[in-house]
Amino acid sequence: VQQVANQCAIAIRQARLYQAAQAQVAELEKLNRLKDDFLSTVSHELRTPMSSIKMATQMLEMSWDKAGKLVSDPSDRTSRYFQVLNDECDREIKLINDLLDLTRLDAETEPLLFTAINPHCWIPSVVEPFLEQARQQEQQLQVQLPAELPTLHTDLDILERILTELLSNACKYTPRQAAIAVTAQANSEFFWLSVQNSGVEIAVVELEHVFDKFYRIPNHDPWKHGGTGLGLALVKKLVEHLSGTIQATSQANQVSFTVQLPIVPPVLTEGP
Ligand code: ADP
Repeated sequence: VQQVANQCAIAIRQARLYQAAQAQVAELEKLNRLKDDFLSTVSHELRTPMSSIKMATQMLEMSWDKAGKLVSDPSDRTSRYFQVLNDECDREIKLINDLLDLTRLDAETEPLLFTAINPHCWIPSVVEPFLEQARQQEQQLQVQLPAELPTLHTDLDILERILTELLSNACKYTPRQAAIAVTAQANSEFFWLSVQNSGVEIAVVELEHVFDKFYRIPNHDPWKHGGTGLGLALVKKLVEHLSGTIQATSQANQVSFTVQLPIVPPVLTEGP
């Protein structure tokens, strides 16, 4: 009887090991599929600006004759091709930088550098460079802060990156004559930073995907500034790196992105 019991125990253990191995194989296959999908999307996204760059260089090449004399209309076509080159190079650089940042954050190798931040000084200083773009696009960009806000203890560079990305999107997707507001509030534990823009709405089915890598909503770009679909994926990763969360909401022709951060990050509140 003992022998049979031992054999049963061995068989059960082997069955469990087999099940665990099967689950591991399934997980590895899933990760491999995700990696393949990611690589194919990245290659496609990197190739798109390259096609425009190649076309513009070929057109520019034809603008000069063998003796180096400009043969096409210098005032119009040539400068348009240079503009294409400039825009597409910027797009490629942003794409590569965002990808590198996403990979770095995935590997969690980025150490945090904590600073005490006064929101009343810091928020307007980040908004300031966007005022001119908003003015040119006839958008009303405002900062609305309560009189009292606590000092935040977090990584200044990362927080700046988050707000800059959200503001850049707000300016990009807000139509003429509409408003953009940066607001903040806090309690004893958390700090909430919101960027709201009006004149545009995101459908519920799309809201679920806006933080996905490479997700872009078609025909949603009134200023045709273009984008990579990586901005919000990066923002989400950066917020999580600061032990925070981010929420996107949209209703009544308004879009709102709210970042919730601990006033003092867990890493500083935990004991030795
Ligand atoms: P990108 O701006 O490069 O397309 P993002 O990841 O930053 O990529 O944004 C994903 C999509 O979410 C955008 O293409 C846009 O359609 C939508 N979106 C992002 N921010 C806003 C906003 N503030 N208002 C309206 N739509 C937005």
